[in-house]
Amino acid sequence: MISRLTGGIRIVSRQYSTTHDADMVVIGSGPGGYVAAIKAAQMGMKTVSVEKDPSLGGTCLNVGCIPSKALLHNSHLYHQAKHDFKNRGIITGDVSFDLNTMMSYKANAVKALTSGIGMLFQKNKVKLLRGVGTIVAPNKVEVKGEKGVETVNTKNILIATGSEVTPFPGVTFDEKQIITSTGALSLSAVPKKMLVIGAGVIGLELGSVWQRLGADVTAIEFLGSIGGIGIDGEVAKTLHKILAKQGMKFKLNTKVLSVKKEGSTVKVEVEGAKGGNKEVLDCDVVLISIGRRPYTKDLGLDKVGIALDDRGRVPVNNKFQTKVPGIYAIGDCIHGPMLAHKAEDEGIVCIEGIKGMPVHFNYDCIPSVIYTSPEVGWVGKSEEDLKKEGKAYKVGKFPFLANSRAKTNGEPDGFVKVLSDKATDVILGTHIIGPGGGELINEAVLAQEYGAAAEDVARVCHAHPTCAEALREANLAAYSGKPINF
Ligand code: FAD
Ligand code: NAD
Repeated sequence: MISRLTGGIRIVSRQYSTTHDADMVVIGSGPGGYVAAIKAAQMGMKTVSVEKDPSLGGTCLNVGCIPSKALLHNSHLYHQAKHDFKNRGIITGDVSFDLNTMMSYKANAVKALTSGIGMLFQKNKVKLLRGVGTIVAPNKVEVKGEKGVETVNTKNILIATGSEVTPFPGVTFDEKQIITSTGALSLSAVPKKMLVIGAGVIGLELGSVWQRLGADVTAIEFLGSIGGIGIDGEVAKTLHKILAKQGMKFKLNTKVLSVKKEGSTVKVEVEGAKGGNKEVLDCDVVLISIGRRPYTKDLGLDKVGIALDDRGRVPVNNKFQTKVPGIYAIGDCIHGPMLAHKAEDEGIVCIEGIKGMPVHFNYDCIPSVIYTSPEVGWVGKSEEDLKKEGKAYKVGKFPFLANSRAKTNGEPDGFVKVLSDKATDVILGTHIIGPGGGELINEAVLAQEYGAAAEDVARVCHAHPTCAEALREANLAAYSGKPINF
């Protein structure tokens, strides 16, 4: 506050304070950063969150998990109403959809959740500074925003700056015809013909959305199977079959050579992954979803002597400490799968570690879900992993066709597969493709995190009739070889 006397009148003017003190500065407000900031404040640290984008919540809430699931849910309901209701005795007349309303619904979901973070910050007394955060010294962060430059002197810094789309060499995204996942969440019309490069998680989820809404979708994949990293081979094959039955087309073992716009058409030149005949495919829209890479631009890591690893990630130890004391990193910008729940959990244990609590993070117990129809969920090792490790294992499988709830609901596709240690019966991995697979997998995660044997899950009483009984039966099959209902 500046006070001065002018002609006998005392003028008091407030100047914006450009220096702050904190115990913790969290750079990035995605699921990793915002959760860590709240946790730090709850544990008594004076906490500042720094975010460069106008909306809080990072990739997940703004252009990732949340908007994609809104479109997946509503396109699924439309598809069911159009193609399935009649079989169930529900007569609706002509079913159509209004894309603008679907997009507004998605935008409202995003707005409600992102503004909720602001309220949580207020409630937990996390101070938000808007602007680009740069680490200028081990205990100092500068924030460049609309208000100019603000400086925070801090005891600790947590980097939670996330990831960005991996670009395709020689291709410029216009987000209308040549699009990333962000463009695919906001198309203004349903493309007639859509090509998806990369049949990983994003390709399958967002490809499903536009295919259900009427686009002719072909996914081009370099590998010989779909679903991205970590998926069990048998599950990937089953998912491929089911999605193909729904109308999605696939070109596996195929390499994309170039993507070029010619008028209103996009031409995509491909050839076999190991060479062979070249082919040019036409489409109105091409979605490029070949992965994401860590985002550390403008962070100033070089100023404090932190070098990135060969994949552009911030190197950290098992307490999420970088090589500079007091600087930590979590989420998509470090090692491990790029998943929102992984980022959140790392944030929590990292903060607890700073406060002297033990840091335990089990990377074998992070669930993965692909939100297609049916959903795919898995945790732990796949059969391919176990074979590679030379581990002796047992397989317990139960099809949803033999599960009373799935059958009654008319959702018999898929199965649960449990992999357990041959000698000890301890569960090593669970793989689900079927109704509610994304919810059901959490029971398997709980069992695996607590070191359960397949027999333990098989002996737990499960409500009837539920799809979760298929998980119980698969565990029963793993430990005794004898499920009851199949
Ligand atoms: P981010 O969410 O990327 O947040 C990083 C934040 O840091 C951003 O807000 C950014 O603006 C900010 N930032 C960066 N640099 C600076 C700086 N210097 N100064 C200030 N701010 C900065 N994961 C799931 O688990 N489930 C899903 O269903 C799922 N669906 C997805 C769908 C799509 C289409 C996409 C693209 C991703 C999806 N993901 C999903 C992945 C998930 O979004 C990420 O794993 C998650 O957002 C990572 O969280 P994070 O906090 O590490 O980083
Ligand atoms: P991804 O790693 O899941 O899949 C990319 C696919 O593209 C792979 O199958 C890869 O073989 C293929 N590919 C790579 N280069 C290619 C090329 N030149 N030609 C053809 N195919 C090629 O990546 P993504 O789908 O872009 O998603 C990025 C990340 O976002 C995921 O790894 C995941 O962590 C996260 N995500 C998660 C969810 C979820 O949890 N449901 C949803 C969306 C995104």
